[in-house]
Parts: sequence; C-alpha cells; structure tokens
Amino acid sequence: MSECDQNTNTCPIPFSQRPIIILGAGIIGCAAARQLLLQGFHVTLVAEFLPGDQDINYASAWAGAAWHAAGSITPDQRYLQAVTHRVLLQMAREPASGVSLVDSREYLEQEPTPDSALWGRTVVSRFRNLSPEEYPSEFACAWAYETLVTDPTRHMPYLKRQIQTMGGRFIRRKVESLHELYGMFLDSRVFINASGLGSKTLADVQDDRCFPERGQNVFLRTDKCQTMYFRNGQEYTYVIPRPYSGGVVLGGVKHQDNLSPDVDLDIARDEIARAHRLAPDVVPANPPEDAISHIIGIRPSRKGGFRLDSEVQGSRTLLSAYGFGGGGYAFSYGVADALVKMVEQTERDHVIV
Ligand SMILES: Cc1cc2nc3c(=O)[nH]c(=O)nc-3n(C[C@H](O)[C@H](O)[C@H](O)COP(=O)(O)OP(=O)(O)OC[C@H]3O[C@@H](n4cnc5c(N)ncnc54)[C@H](O)[C@@H]3O)c2cc1C
Repeated sequence: MSECDQNTNTCPIPFSQRPIIILGAGIIGCAAARQLLLQGFHVTLVAEFLPGDQDINYASAWAGAAWHAAGSITPDQRYLQAVTHRVLLQMAREPASGVSLVDSREYLEQEPTPDSALWGRTVVSRFRNLSPEEYPSEFACAWAYETLVTDPTRHMPYLKRQIQTMGGRFIRRKVESLHELYGMFLDSRVFINASGLGSKTLADVQDDRCFPERGQNVFLRTDKCQTMYFRNGQEYTYVIPRPYSGGVVLGGVKHQDNLSPDVDLDIARDEIARAHRLAPDVVPANPPEDAISHIIGIRPSRKGGFRLDSEVQGSRTLLSAYGFGGGGYAFSYGVADALVKMVEQTERDHVIV
C-alpha cells in the first residue's frame, strides 16, 4: 500500500528516504548499491541471483576479474575505468575485499594503435615500456605495470555484507518486467536496471542488442600468483593471479554459439597450452589434474557496447546500466559513481522546486 498520492504526486516520505530500487545483484547492481548507501540513500536490490550464488548465468560469480584498460572506448568510458581503479586501489588495503595489487606484463603482437589499451598508463602505477631483451622476440612491444585483480569468491560476499551493514535490503525474486518491479515499490521514484542479460527478455525492455557470450577458464592452483600476464592480439590470452584463492585463472575464450554449462576439455587444453607459451614459469605444459578446476560463465554482452543512461518515465526515473560483456568489474565502481550522480540529479529535480 502506497503512502503517496499517485494522482497529485505528493508524498509524506521525503525523496531521499524513498528506497532506490535496483534490479540485479551482480557486480554492477551491488557496486551501485554500496556507493548509494555511502551517500545516505536507502537501497533495495531485487534479483533472481544474489552474491554467493553460482549459476552459469550470474556472470559476476565467474569473472577473472582483472582491471585491464579497454581499447576502442570513449574518453568518458575510460574515465569510468579510472574511477574504478581508484576505488579498487583503496579496497586492496582490506583483505576481506578480495582485491589485490599485482604486477602485470602485457605483450603486444603489434604496435599499439591510438585507441589501444595504452591510455591506461595514466591510471596504473609503475608503468614502463619493456626493452626488447625483457620479452619474447615474437612480440612487437611489451609493457610492465601494477594492476588490480578482484577475487569474486571474496568480493561479492564482501559487498553483500557491506550493503547489509549500511541498511541495504536484498529480495530474491525473478520479475518478468520493470512494471512488475514498479508495482512492488509504489513509493519509489528511482529504479536502476542492472539486470545484465535479463534486459534481453524483460517484457518492457527486450533489448535485442543484448546477447550471451560464453566464457570458460581454467583455474590452476599454484603459489606463483603475483603477476598477471596478458597477450594482446590474435592469440588473446591471459594469466590472471588470484592470490586469495592460491592460484591463477587461465583464459580466455568468447563464444556466442556454444552456451553449454559443461566443461569443453578441448578448450581447457588449448587455454593451458596458450598460457604455458605466455608464462612458462607459472603454467607448466602439463599441470597435474588435481591442481586444475574449471570456470564457466555467460557474459552479458551488448552489440555497440554497454548502456548507461537515465530516462524520465512519468513520475519515475529509470536508470539503465547493463551490457558490460567482459568488462563489468573493470567498469563497476565508475559506473556506480555515475549512477549516484544521476540519482542526485533526480533528487535535485524533486527537492529544488
Ligand atoms: C569467464 C569470465 C571472465 C571474465 N573476466 C573478466 C575480467 O577479467 N574483468 C572484468 O572486468 N570482467 C570480466 N568478466 C565480465 C564480468 O563478469 C561481467 O561483465 C559482470 O559480471 C557483469 O555484471 P552484471 O552485474 O551486469 O551482470 P550479472 O553478474 O550477470 O548480474 C545480473 C543480475 O541481474 C539479475 N537479473 C537478471 N534478470 C532478472 C530478472 N528478470 N529478475 C530478477 N533478477 C534478474 C540476476 O539474477 C543478477 O543478480 C568475465 C566474465 C566471465 C564469464
């Protein structure tokens, strides 16, 4: 039952005390919830999958999850990644967050183009060009720098605890449409759609640019987990350290056609072979079976890139933040801060009349 009069749009509850409703509790929804709660807003998250769940369609449980500067993105999108780096760097002081500062070596098959990942050198620490004797001769150039890796098995439960400690609420529920969500929270004025791939099927979104992209990685248990290796080019390969889980994540692949939850051993063998070529000191050619496990997740990708915008729908404001594909962790806290600014703009429109 609403305490507000929907016809006159008057309400005894001040704007800032009406919960902001977030659909989706992946890294995007949870990062947004945390940043909004830190600013004093009330927040409720509604989602089918919650932190700690391990469904293949819940991408945030399966990410690498490295901070790597994305190529071919706009200056504003670069800034979202820069903000994320700043927030993660602060979190890395707290082991419970699962965020670690690690060394990184990036090898390029070709000289970098103007829209390559090179822009990230202004964000990371200790960036330097490696001299030719420091990297294999098959590469055109190479860089070393420090970067941040997030262990999702720690980070998502950490976020859940932080959100709950600050008064945020989680409701486990699958909705068929945003209107179903609006009907659950008649007093709320701001709704955030952070439903990832859900935006493809929600009845009143049906964004046909969204598509699923399967990832399958190998987790190799090893104590050599302090350096990230990244091969940029045709043989796109990474070795992402996960110090808090005592191992490294080997990848990667992106498949639109194969969405199977089953391990494809050919893919796994190929990833181990590529990772061995990239980092032979860390990844043996034939690692023991009992040191290996497999990670499979579906990335919530979107043709043309992610959506991050605000629209007024009658008395409500709908913010959309989905379609982050293989970069949701690297964009997360920047997106969350952008959403906070959009919510504050809506607050301003409601309280300065
Ligand atoms: C193998 C792999 C490796 C990756 N590596 C990296 C990496 O190194 N760096 C990086 O930055 N990113 C990486 N990613 C990508 C990253 O995991 C995603 O971009 C990110 O998790 C997307 O987060 P999200 O919150 O948008 O979506 P999700 O985590 O999928 O969450 C969506 C949420 O919406 C909810 N939802 C959807 N529809 C509905 C509905 N109808 N009703 C109720 N709830 C609904 C879901 O239950 C869920 O809570 C990787 C992904 C994979 C699979």
